[in-house]
Amino acid sequence: MKEYIAKKLFLLIPTVLAVPLLVFAMMRFIPGDPFGAACKIAMAQGYGDTPYEHPHHGIDLVCPFGTPEVSVADGVVYRTNTGCPAYGAWLDMCGGGYGNFVMVDSTFQVGDQHGTHHLYILYAHMKQDPSVQPGQAVQPGTLLGFEGSSGWSSGPHLHFEIDLERPVTTASTNPSFMLQPGLF
Ligand SMILES: [Zn+2]
Repeated sequence: MKEYIAKKLFLLIPTVLAVPLLVFAMMRFIPGDPFGAACKIAMAQGYGDTPYEHPHHGIDLVCPFGTPEVSVADGVVYRTNTGCPAYGAWLDMCGGGYGNFVMVDSTFQVGDQHGTHHLYILYAHMKQDPSVQPGQAVQPGTLLGFEGSSGWSSGPHLHFEIDLERPVTTASTNPSFMLQPGLF
């Protein structure tokens, strides 16, 4: 029983911590537009449970194929994937299914004693190799790449995802707080 409770508590910690952490993140970052106002965005799929994915770990945003994609926040490029064809397919696992992608590590502080926290911001399914390299510093508006349909994708879109603290999909949180209101 003790073990059971400990396990349950352990699983609950990330959920409980996420809310205050996100409040600090919201204070630190100004919401942006990953297409830099280049087009009127359509949302193809929201965050969470959808008819296609359970759950969907990001938000799918659609602009015309090849639209430049820019960073919404400052940070350092944590990881990229290259070499996937511009058009992937259903079940295409190139880049773990994310195709050509950029993941930016954006950090924020919570008080003085609680150290540095991370938002890992993922821009997935790019048309070609990203325009940035791992380790490179980016600012809001820095060109990251171009919209495509690489990896496990059924049409051109940007899969925009934020992973909290750990650069893994299972740590995803609803990324809408990083998107300007009224974008789509
Ligand atoms: Zn998606």
